[in-house]
Amino acid sequence: MSKRIEAGEFSEWISDFTLTMKGQSDGNVPCNGCVGCCTSSKFILIRPSDAGALEVIPEQLLFSAPSLPPHHYLLGYYKKGHCPMFKNGSCTIYQYRPETCRQYDCRVLKASDADTRDEGPTISKKVAEWEFSYDKPESKKLQKAVNDAAKFLNENKKLFPDGYVPISSSSLAAVAIRIHPEFVSTQNSNRVNTPLKLVKKIVAKYP
Ligand code: SF4
Ligand code: SF4
Repeated sequence: MSKRIEAGEFSEWISDFTLTMKGQSDGNVPCNGCVGCCTSSKFILIRPSDAGALEVIPEQLLFSAPSLPPHHYLLGYYKKGHCPMFKNGSCTIYQYRPETCRQYDCRVLKASDADTRDEGPTISKKVAEWEFSYDKPESKKLQKAVNDAAKFLNENKKLFPDGYVPISSSSLAAVAIRIHPEFVSTQNSNRVNTPLKLVKKIVAKYP
């Protein structure tokens, strides 16, 4: 059995993570020496707003991000899955690391009960260790809403516009967190929407 690590109180974590996704706070993950994000063969999206990162990352390591507007880049990884900016066990550009790295929080995978296999073994192991607490009365309800949202995204991918439902588990989980209020209101209502109706509502409310 894997060890357990305190992930935080669920409703408080959702509030913090929502601020992080809006760029109003840096992700504050108690990584405790884990470097899974930097060593798990991830392509890191660099946005035009990542001015600091764009200044310090050598140009030859960046390539244009497919299907995104100009000036969006991807930073690849070396053979062992390590980010090129990761050296001697840490990020060499930590102060200027891109928003993608600031926002990544593997607890989102735990929160949405996601399949973590595509995140690689280090992140999967870490996700298995997290344990949320549910001290506030609304926390269990929020947890169910996030799970329902993730399930709905997975089961109705084809009803959403192209690109709305991400391919990677962690990005899909982040979308589930974003749209979960819709599934809290579903719990509180007797009205049943058809999947297509709900998809339209979600896309209009969370473009
Ligand atoms: S995988 Fe999770 S715990 Fe590990 S470095 Fe990334 S965010 Fe931190
Ligand atoms: S830029 Fe830094 S924080 Fe981001 S993946 Fe690379 S080494 Fe890790």
